[in-house]
Amino acid sequence: MSVNIETRCIHGIPGAGVCDGNRAISFPIYQTASFSHIKTGHNDSGFDYTRESNPTRQRAEEVVAALEKAEYASAFTSGMAAVSAVMELFEPESEIICSEDLYGGVIRLHRVISNKNGVKVHYADTSDIENIKALINSDTKAVYIETPSNPMMNITDIRVVAKLAHERGIILIVDNTFLSPYFQNPLELGADIVLHSGSKFLAGHNDTISGFVCTNNAGLAEKIKLISKTSGASLAPFDSWLVMRGLKTLAVRMERQQENAKRIVEFLKFHPKIDHVYYPGLPEHKGYDINIAQSRGSGSMISFTVDSIETLERVLKKVKIIIFAESLGGTESLITYPALQTHPDVPKEMREHLGITDTLLRLSVGLENCEDLINDLKQALEE
Ligand SMILES: *Cc1c(COP(=O)(O)O)cnc(C)c1O
Repeated sequence: MSVNIETRCIHGIPGAGVCDGNRAISFPIYQTASFSHIKTGHNDSGFDYTRESNPTRQRAEEVVAALEKAEYASAFTSGMAAVSAVMELFEPESEIICSEDLYGGVIRLHRVISNKNGVKVHYADTSDIENIKALINSDTKAVYIETPSNPMMNITDIRVVAKLAHERGIILIVDNTFLSPYFQNPLELGADIVLHSGSKFLAGHNDTISGFVCTNNAGLAEKIKLISKTSGASLAPFDSWLVMRGLKTLAVRMERQQENAKRIVEFLKFHPKIDHVYYPGLPEHKGYDINIAQSRGSGSMISFTVDSIETLERVLKKVKIIIFAESLGGTESLITYPALQTHPDVPKEMREHLGITDTLLRLSVGLENCEDLINDLKQALEE
C-alpha cells in the first residue's frame, strides 16, 4: 500500500508493523554490541556485531529510505561521516565537480583528506550547467551539489544535472539537508546518491548528530555498506532511535518552520537595516522557478546581509530567543555568522566571491511563536 509522507514519517514502510514479541509501539533501542549464534553456520537474527548492523539502526535506515523514496539507506555518526563514506567511493586520480558554496566542513574534508587521497575537486557555480560541462573530462566520476546551497541558497536544477551526468557516465550526488525529504526527493529527479546531515531537520531537535546516505543503486549501496562496516562510523543504536523519534514529527515541523520563515522574510525584506535577503521562496530569488519545479517548498533557512558590521554584532549580542549558535533545522531558532562559524576554513577570497561577506547572517527558523521571533529580531536590530 502506498502512503503519504506524513504517514511514512511515523511508520516508515507501511506494514513494517510492531517490532518484537512484546509488541512495542516505539521501536526498542537494541543497546548491544553483539548478537549470539545458535550453532555454526546458523545466524537466525541476521545480526552479528553492531558496527556492522543493529536492528535499531536498521529501522532508522528503513524509515529514512522510505522518506527519500530510496531502496537503500545507511546511517552514519554524523553528516560528515556520511560525506566521508561517499568520498571513499573514489579512487586516486578521480575528479569530482562540486557546487562552489558547499557546507564549509565538506570543503575542509576535500582539502584535508580527499586531496591527500588523490581525489581532485573542482568547484563551480552549478546553477549554470555550462560551468559543469566545461569541467567534465575522462577522469570525472561525480557531480556533487547542494540545492538550496549553504549559506547562499543557490538553486541547481537537479534534473538537468542528472541528465548531463548520466550522458557522460558519471554519478550525481545531492546533499538534501536543507529541504529534507519532506520538501524534496532528489532520487526521483535523477540523482544517484542523496546525503543528509541527520543532525538537522531529520532529527530536528538540536540534540543529536547523525548522517545518512540514500540510493537506489544496489552496487553503490553495497559499497557504502562495506565502507561503513570497515571504517566504523555507523550510527549508535540510541542515536538511531533519537532520529526516528524526531522523524515522526518531520512533516508538521517542516510546515510550521517554513510558515514562520516566510513571515520573517517579509519582515526582514522591508527592514531599513537589512540589505539583502536570500530565500528560495522569494519570487525575486534567482533560483525561484527551478526550486518550485523540483521541490514542494522553500524551507526555513534564510540568509541576509545587514548594513554594517556594527549592526551584525549588535544583532548577535542582543537576540534573546533566537540563539547565536551553529547548526540548523531544529526546534530552536539559531542564528549563525557563516564567515566566522561555518566557513572560516574557506579562503577569504573564495568567501567574498561566493557572497559570504562579513555582514552575512544565516537564520534557521525554528518552531517558536513567529510573533515572538519577529519581536526578537526587531529589538536586536534597534540601536
Ligand atoms: C551540517 C551539514 C553537514 C554536516 O553534517 P554534520 O551532521 O554536522 O556532520 C553537511 N551538509 C550540510 C548541508 C549541513 O548543513
